[in-house]
Amino acid sequence: MAQSTSWDAHPEPLAVDSAPLPEYGSGSLADLLPTLAAGMSVPGTTATITELTPADRNCVFLIDGLGWEQLRAHPDEAPFLTSLLGSSRGGTGRPLTTGYPATTATSLASVGTGLPPGAHGLPGYTVRNPATGELMNQLRWQPWTSPSAWQPYPTVFQLAHAAGVHAAQVSSPTFQNTPLTKVALSGGTFHGRLTGEDRMDLAAEQLAAGDRSLVYTYYAELDGAGHRFGVASDAWRGQLMSVDRLVQRLAEQLPPRSALYVTADHGMIDVPFDEDHRIDFDADWELRAGVALLGGEGRARHVYAVPGAAADVVTCWREVLGEQFWVASRDEAIAAGWFGPHIDERVYDRLGDVVAAARDDVLIVASEREPKESAMVGNHGSMTPAEQLIPLLEVRS
Ligand SMILES: [Zn+2]
Repeated sequence: MAQSTSWDAHPEPLAVDSAPLPEYGSGSLADLLPTLAAGMSVPGTTATITELTPADRNCVFLIDGLGWEQLRAHPDEAPFLTSLLGSSRGGTGRPLTTGYPATTATSLASVGTGLPPGAHGLPGYTVRNPATGELMNQLRWQPWTSPSAWQPYPTVFQLAHAAGVHAAQVSSPTFQNTPLTKVALSGGTFHGRLTGEDRMDLAAEQLAAGDRSLVYTYYAELDGAGHRFGVASDAWRGQLMSVDRLVQRLAEQLPPRSALYVTADHGMIDVPFDEDHRIDFDADWELRAGVALLGGEGRARHVYAVPGAAADVVTCWREVLGEQFWVASRDEAIAAGWFGPHIDERVYDRLGDVVAAARDDVLIVASEREPKESAMVGNHGSMTPAEQLIPLLEVRS
């Protein structure tokens, strides 16, 4: 390999272990619910976010797409959330990391199971199903496969419910019977409410419904505005203003002995629309060579090689992508701990032979096989602070 110089077309590839790892086991999204449940003495749970003080009634409000950096950049649109920044991580003013990849299906499973992606087994937006050899979309659960075989662990809600804690999820009715809800958020009772205001009011009611309670609520639309129009677009900022008011509405209704935690599943980064920033897999014969299936998403790819080609695909992707992506073989990504401290056997073959995580504001789009995703302004998935860091804001009654 030639030495990296300023005039090289393809500079020296990034070392796999130079990627900033999620703080699995001490400050990642998967650590949140076990910490809260342990504070309510739920058997089988451990408090790993040591800065948090236990409460009898715990509510988690997950705002899809609200990264720590984006929140900090928009204090005028989010006065209430901004006033809570000093409360992060129990007053230490620090964010959590969401886990890899920084994507909704993976993160919701991490939240609900309290496990890193390598254990719960939803390690991407799309991953290969080893039983069929087909790509499976983890968010839409297509094509369908048995949810309980795919993710066999109990959720923290189920553990809490079994221990006599009042457990409830308050979200859009759309999500009530989805397989993702089943594998990530089962346990206690699901309450579907269409408007954010109704969800806040009901979450407060559910929190008061037990001496000990664990309530989850969710807001989706900020992420959608970011994907379509970009972070800091008028639509995105309008959504941030709305959700800021919702958090305040819930905070003002907290019953006694409660803690409200506001967090997110990932942040977001805008990617310019030009060939330097959007590398088109469908138009790039070098990237396609030896590849059977392209999984994941633009900033967090799982690449499945044709038999025998894995090593060549790693080499080629490294050369083509240079310093723009961290490119790891499956075993390198596992050894580096990208998906957590260990990988369950059933999860191993769901990971790409090559795993590519964006470092710069770049994407590997696929204009033909993923026309919709390839047209998104805001994106997420990788390990950069803009995507990986998420707030953990606290309000106590
Ligand atoms: Zn998203």
